[in-house]
Amino acid sequence: IAEGVGPRLPSVLAGIPTYEPGRPAPVGERPSWKLSSNENPYPPLPGVLDAAVAAAGQLNRYPDLTCAALTRALAEHWDVPMDHIAFGTGSIGLIQQLVQISAESGDEIIYAWRPFESYPIVAEISGARSIQVPLTEDEAHDLDAMADAVTDRTRLIFLCTPNNPTGRVLHRTDVVRFLDRIPEQVLVVIDEAYVEFVRDPDAVNALDMYRTRPNVVALRTFSKAYGLAGLRIGYAVAHEPVAAALRKTAVALGVSTIAQSAALASLQREDELLERVSRLVAERSRMREALLAQGWSVPDSHANYLWLRLGERSDTFAAACEAAGVMVRPFACEGVRISIGELGGTDALLRVAQDFAPR
Ligand code: PMP
Repeated sequence: IAEGVGPRLPSVLAGIPTYEPGRPAPVGERPSWKLSSNENPYPPLPGVLDAAVAAAGQLNRYPDLTCAALTRALAEHWDVPMDHIAFGTGSIGLIQQLVQISAESGDEIIYAWRPFESYPIVAEISGARSIQVPLTEDEAHDLDAMADAVTDRTRLIFLCTPNNPTGRVLHRTDVVRFLDRIPEQVLVVIDEAYVEFVRDPDAVNALDMYRTRPNVVALRTFSKAYGLAGLRIGYAVAHEPVAAALRKTAVALGVSTIAQSAALASLQREDELLERVSRLVAERSRMREALLAQGWSVPDSHANYLWLRLGERSDTFAAACEAAGVMVRPFACEGVRISIGELGGTDALLRVAQDFAPR
């Protein structure tokens, strides 16, 4: 087919970045560790796997569009009405829908920079303008600057806590003060993909914020603490009009029966899963303390990853890690995000970090 022949696609698409997943660890004889995607290193619990396998027996049928059993379980778990819950194909699916239901071409979406990489992609696809507010010197959201950035075109604000990629959490009092400054017509999404890893007693809880505010959405996922990243299931809790709009814009039947069953089985085994999370939190402390001892400045992360602001050395550092069998996530000229995974991965990472240590 001759060049230039074919359907006419909007030229804007060419300029939009493509979502880049963390690179996999090389397969070979040498040990290697994938610390590039903030995944849970533990395989599914046996009971969760059993539920997934049993659900696979119904693969000839469409899934339950309404996710009824899981909706009921979550509504009870969080003490929220069933019609305040909406599911998506991962919370990435919901991020896309949240933009779709709130912003039209020319509207503004505010988020911190550097953000979780889906925000700019979905914002640009929608034709909305991204207003990117730099993180503070100590890698936290600048909530005052974000509130100052609101205009009459602002439709949506993403807050990410713990923040990807820096791991800093937002504090309850700061978020309340921020929300008090935001007009009720503006949707505020609090993305808590890593909330189960938080150990700061003053951290905000998105569900608490949502209960009294019709414009707040709590965004959660089964991918991280629950270890179901491969099944693609996340959920939002929001007041009925917003939740209904999310149900309407979801890809119909996009959450599989296997995902629904495994998520339900995980919820029923939450204590065991949270015990694993505690082990990962301990490993996070071990890695951070060792890096601090090497002379690095490392933000106080409450997620399952740490952030090293390496600037120009980010790609070189990531390449040295790869040579040592450790895959990390570099963001060119900014920094490197390191997931907390298997113990061997921490030790291998620390050996490389020693060579790059600032002093
Ligand atoms: N939000 C944040 C902050 C994330 O880091 C991620 C995954 N990396 C997601 C949402 C999306 O997760 P999922 O689609 O697997 O639920």
